[in-house]
Amino acid sequence: MKVMGVIGYKDSGKTSLVVGLSRELKKRGYRVATVKHIHGEIDLPQANTAKHGQYTGEVAAISERESAVFFKRKKSLEDIMGYLEADFILVEGFKSERTYPKVVCLRKKDEAKDLFDGLQILVAVLSPKKLRLGLPVFHILKDVERIADIIEKRAFKLPNLNCGACGYETCYELAREIIEGNKTDKDCPALNPGTEVRLGGKILPMNPFVDRIVQSTIKGVLSSLKGFRKGKIEIEIGE
Ligand code: SF4
Repeated sequence: MKVMGVIGYKDSGKTSLVVGLSRELKKRGYRVATVKHIHGEIDLPQANTAKHGQYTGEVAAISERESAVFFKRKKSLEDIMGYLEADFILVEGFKSERTYPKVVCLRKKDEAKDLFDGLQILVAVLSPKKLRLGLPVFHILKDVERIADIIEKRAFKLPNLNCGACGYETCYELAREIIEGNKTDKDCPALNPGTEVRLGGKILPMNPFVDRIVQSTIKGVLSSLKGFRKGKIEIEIGE
């Protein structure tokens, strides 16, 4: 799963870009999902699902063509991404998230100082301007294919565990090094643990400390069993 953020202020063209990129990446054969930051309520106040949710923690709705679950509390991006089955996830908004690269949609040049956080890889604009920002500048509607080419190569997502196992205190610091071209996401041991745990078919990122505990616990228990021998261990646990 690879992630690219699309950030910018209101009416900067973020949604148009996310829609264009979704279409282009789907055309290239990828499964694409999007996440959008919403201010306020997500459900329509007059909808029956909103009425159901007055006294419940979760509300689900199923129709012939769609299914939805409303959690009546805030969830982290990582939690929500766990539900998505996609090769690429485009995240609109969430300016302060710092574990993946970002396309910055600008209405004017001086917005860059507030939106650039070291994870920006390109700038996208609706009206052509000469912006000297040290980054490539693309048109939101006309350059979708070129932006998708870059996303294919540069999208990534670090686990947000901030465990320090990569030699940096936070995922943000490694993310910046990846953007600079000094590292890759393979330098995050939590993305490549020795123990592979899959939940619902998806690998669960694990920091090396937990990885070691899980490995040594399982090996310790199994080694007491008759017939145990060294080698790759495969365990599947049902629900
Ligand atoms: S090892 Fe991975 S999860 Fe841990 S701080 Fe580094 S980037 Fe983040």
